[in-house]
Amino acid sequence: MKPTSLILHFILVLVLVGTAAPALAWGPEGHEIIAAIAESYLTPMAKEQLQAIIGSTKRIADPELSSWADHIRYMKEYKSVYPGNGNWHFVDFNVTERYDENFELRPDPNGNDVIGAIRRWTDELASNKIPLEHKLDAVRFVVHLVGDIHQPLHCAYRYGDMGGNMIPVHSFQGRNYSFDAETMMDFGQPSIHSVWDESMVYELLGSTRPRIMARKLQKEITDDEFRKWSNDNILQWAIDSYWRARKEVYRWPNGDPLPWKWARPGMDLTSENYIDARLPLVREQLKKGGVRLAYMINSALDPDFLAEKTAARQKSVEKAEEKAAEK
Ligand SMILES: [Zn+2]
Repeated sequence: MKPTSLILHFILVLVLVGTAAPALAWGPEGHEIIAAIAESYLTPMAKEQLQAIIGSTKRIADPELSSWADHIRYMKEYKSVYPGNGNWHFVDFNVTERYDENFELRPDPNGNDVIGAIRRWTDELASNKIPLEHKLDAVRFVVHLVGDIHQPLHCAYRYGDMGGNMIPVHSFQGRNYSFDAETMMDFGQPSIHSVWDESMVYELLGSTRPRIMARKLQKEITDDEFRKWSNDNILQWAIDSYWRARKEVYRWPNGDPLPWKWARPGMDLTSENYIDARLPLVREQLKKGGVRLAYMINSALDPDFLAEKTAARQKSVEKAEEKAAEK
């Protein structure tokens, strides 16, 4: 490269870094797995309603649906349709914030983060007042964003590193790897964020296809986990992700923090020093995401599901009150 084109290239990279980060969230495979798990928990009524919106032959696990929100994220034409939609994929919770009596994780007061966006789009999905085409976008956003909130680095940042986007990874399993040409982050160096979006999921998959992996993971979910995870406390999901990022993603297995941003040439991540210790977390987050996505879709599209849940909640409140009264 000539010096001038080198400078231009550098400027281009800077511009891209400035606009594209934080990165895309789970790669298409992560979203596909989460959506495929969710499909297996949909009630017949929710399924029927869903197919009417997305088309009878389509599935929410299809990458063009589950990763649609990432594809439109930087498209000009969607800037005016859904202003600020780039912020809907994450929430900025600081992992270096002191954990004392004043500690509190607060979502964006204007709802311009993943928490607010999931809530709004689930309401739209449930609403009788919006046209079917718009509901398709609601499905696309709910499916995608419920996935994103379960990628721990979408709910955490450290010293302005944009959810780990600024922490370079030099190699993964001994490979100096690069992104495939289709992803928008096909520049610069892989980061701890991109590792969590994609490489960790690839590591989990090996040669298994995402839908087969979804079935495998779904079989692992215990009744107890299913009950515990089935709720619509979106803020709490984000807080869970935050703590997993703070305690695990941002740390080596021995508890030491990962190096600070821009520490070149970046980390060398191997099975022994990081990956194997963190794969159980990847599995768990994908499973949780699937269960909760089903919960949101069932609540939005099946009135009986919500009625049952409300009745069950009411019952448990009454039980607790009875117990308290007995004391
Ligand atoms: Zn995303």
